[in-house]
Amino acid sequence: MDKREFLKASGLALTGTMLTPFASPQSPDDRIQRPADTRKNWSGNFTYSTDRLDAPTSVEEVQAIVKRAKKLRALGTRHSFNAIADSTTEQISLQHLDHMALDPATRTVTIGAGITYGKLAPYIDSHGFALHNLASLPHISVAGGCATATHGSGIHNRNLSSACSALELVTANGDRLALSRAKDSDIFDGAVVALGALGIVTSLTLDVEPTYQMDQVVYQDLPFSELEHNLNTIFASGYSVSLFTDWQNHRATQVWIKRRVDPQKPYTWPQEFYSARRATQNLHPVTGHSAESCTEQLGVPGPWYERLPHFRMNFTPSSGKELQTEYLVPLEHGYEAIRAVEQLRDHITPHLFVTELRTIEADSLWMSMAYQRPSLAIHFTWKPEWPAVQKILPLIEANLAPFEPRPHWAKLFTMPPATLQSRYAKLSDFKALLQKHDPDGKFRNAFLESNLYST
Ligand SMILES: Cc1cc2nc3c(=O)[nH]c(=O)nc-3n(C[C@H](O)[C@H](O)[C@H](O)COP(=O)(O)OP(=O)(O)OC[C@H]3O[C@@H](n4cnc5c(N)ncnc54)[C@H](O)[C@@H]3O)c2cc1C
Repeated sequence: MDKREFLKASGLALTGTMLTPFASPQSPDDRIQRPADTRKNWSGNFTYSTDRLDAPTSVEEVQAIVKRAKKLRALGTRHSFNAIADSTTEQISLQHLDHMALDPATRTVTIGAGITYGKLAPYIDSHGFALHNLASLPHISVAGGCATATHGSGIHNRNLSSACSALELVTANGDRLALSRAKDSDIFDGAVVALGALGIVTSLTLDVEPTYQMDQVVYQDLPFSELEHNLNTIFASGYSVSLFTDWQNHRATQVWIKRRVDPQKPYTWPQEFYSARRATQNLHPVTGHSAESCTEQLGVPGPWYERLPHFRMNFTPSSGKELQTEYLVPLEHGYEAIRAVEQLRDHITPHLFVTELRTIEADSLWMSMAYQRPSLAIHFTWKPEWPAVQKILPLIEANLAPFEPRPHWAKLFTMPPATLQSRYAKLSDFKALLQKHDPDGKFRNAFLESNLYST
């Protein structure tokens, strides 16, 4: 596998330039933009079912489009691997709504729905503020990340959408709706991770905190047997901890530990960590690949947004192909779940680029994969071999079934809808919220019909 392939495959690659170049708007009042090439998602594994993509430049234009459209789906930066953002009729991109306004007094930042984490992070950092976490890839839109409960790692870190304290959206009849955690506490938890089904989000307000520095080190070859009794301690050994494995030899090939730096408390990283040895050079998560694109390791401090992702912010991969899958299981069953997947190693490894294990703190967002469950996320970055992967996913889902896994909304899974629905205790409240604001299902697509509504 060459570097280009892996950067796509790792699921950790950073890109700010992968958006398809759009043609100019056709007319000011109906800005239908058509991409120059076929309309695919970031990874290229999914082709959207419509070539109609609106790109309004104001909330008023969003309202006009929503009013006119019979069916509509919001599209972020196209990083989802399944049909969640798809439409057979029409999609709308908020990329031109790109304002950012920091309010130091309330420690919040309000942004247009076109803003990506990659754009937001340096902006708030330059004003002395930070987010609590980032995903492995910063160039996803905040709106798209929040809609699917996108997460980073850290045993005490909730997912990225948990930072959302207010949002504005345009509902099915074209009206503007402003919701906030403070004012709408009865339904706000249902509105943040809304899978694009509640309306077109035009702006979001996120909690920020004083900026911080981080450093990270990588340890190599941690035996899985160490996880049996120390899983929580291992995942709590840094602010954000990721284990990588190819599932062979009963071990994690690498452990990435990211620590918040306290200048008052000098720290020396130990040479050994649960039998794993500290790396003496920067490493790539896939053994043997160049670490050129990776964020600085070896305990060198840097800004939070240059350490939380594994790869450098300004690194731009070429296009390539990969597939991703991820299941969140209760952290208390983390080791058993890892062992259950490990049993399938000889099915998995030939089709796998790498697996990443992360933890996520429980939250109260109705449709979040970590809803009321401190979670272990078992992630797979697959080679682009869908026919084979499609056969493996039911095996993994069957082995994980005792732990009631929740698949990542934006990645590939084969779980039957009834099983998926049974994993979300607040699903009926969520559907009631959708019914109130979108009674005719304007924002419902085949993915939602199947996964939320069919039995
Ligand atoms: C290389 C790579 C690395 C990744 N790493 C991680 C990771 O570390 N952690 C993790 O949890 N996930 C990860 N993901 C998955 C990614 O976070 C999700 O796919 C996320 O939803 C992508 O956001 P997007 O802007 O691309 O949204 P899209 O894929 O474009 O859309 C996703 C959903 O958001 C909705 N949406 C988007 N914008 C709006 C809006 N304005 N209003 C209403 N709904 C909207 C869409 O309708 C759709 O339902 C990764 C994906 C890739 C390709």
